[in-house]
Amino acid sequence: QIGAMQGEETGRAGQPNVVLFLRDLTSAKRLEAMRVDFVANASHELRTPLASLLGFVETLQGPARNDPAARERFLAIMRVQALRMTRLIDDLLSLSRIELRAHVPPTQAVEVVPLARQIVESLGALARERGVALALEAEPGPQVLGDRDEILRVIENLVENAVKYGGEGGRVEVRVARLPGQEGGPPQVEIAVRDEGPGIAPEHLPRLTERFYRVDAASSRQQGGTGLGLAIVKHILNRHRGRLLVESEPGRGATFRALIPAHAGQAGPPAPPPGG
Ligand code: ADP
Repeated sequence: QIGAMQGEETGRAGQPNVVLFLRDLTSAKRLEAMRVDFVANASHELRTPLASLLGFVETLQGPARNDPAARERFLAIMRVQALRMTRLIDDLLSLSRIELRAHVPPTQAVEVVPLARQIVESLGALARERGVALALEAEPGPQVLGDRDEILRVIENLVENAVKYGGEGGRVEVRVARLPGQEGGPPQVEIAVRDEGPGIAPEHLPRLTERFYRVDAASSRQQGGTGLGLAIVKHILNRHRGRLLVESEPGRGATFRALIPAHAGQAGPPAPPPGG
């Protein structure tokens, strides 16, 4: 059937309806290929820690049976592997939940600065551990029409990446600001996260939000990364009609900027009190 349609296309080149059909087919094929890739990647990511766990279980049942010191050491490694699998499954579930809601516009009026403050506080310990100075710069007020937990997740993933990959002893700056609309577009709330780490080479930038894409797989795994953080960010921003912009000059850090349309019910700074 499809072969016949393609044959027809070669016979009557340039007919827009046939070309459209083929284009749809290509995108359906591309989607299918992406799905197959995703399942293969996810299985591989789960299989690696699982194989390691199984290996340790067998060692504990056999050679290390009567070696208490080895047992403690192996159990500690097994715990890390089990936690890694848990994180991966949690991220996969988050992604699929966000995708399920992709076409349901979020409706809560969400104040962004308190969420940024919450994340800066909760990641304070990790930052201190790495000697990273984590700072928030924001004027209270900006609101978006959104999903509170999802916005929290965007900020968390971006700040955690900046702390993880931003290099020991550097500075990470989180900024929240309401920007005027450009070219007739609505005003935007910007969440910008800047680090002073090694940055990201330009050829990686367009692929960062792909599931399981990592610039340096070993370093990501060592940091406990799943390779899904920025994919989750992208899906959440899509649902909020927002955008993610990344700027980086290798050697001089990276800036990730999430832009989300400001809550329309919030026209700007509050009006002065009447009679004032
Ligand atoms: P991961 O779980 O590996 O952190 P992400 O999707 O959050 O996955 O990020 C994808 C990759 O992008 C990371 O593995 C890392 O290589 C790179 N990356 C993300 N944020 C930064 C950053 N601030 N500086 C340098 N590289 C980064």
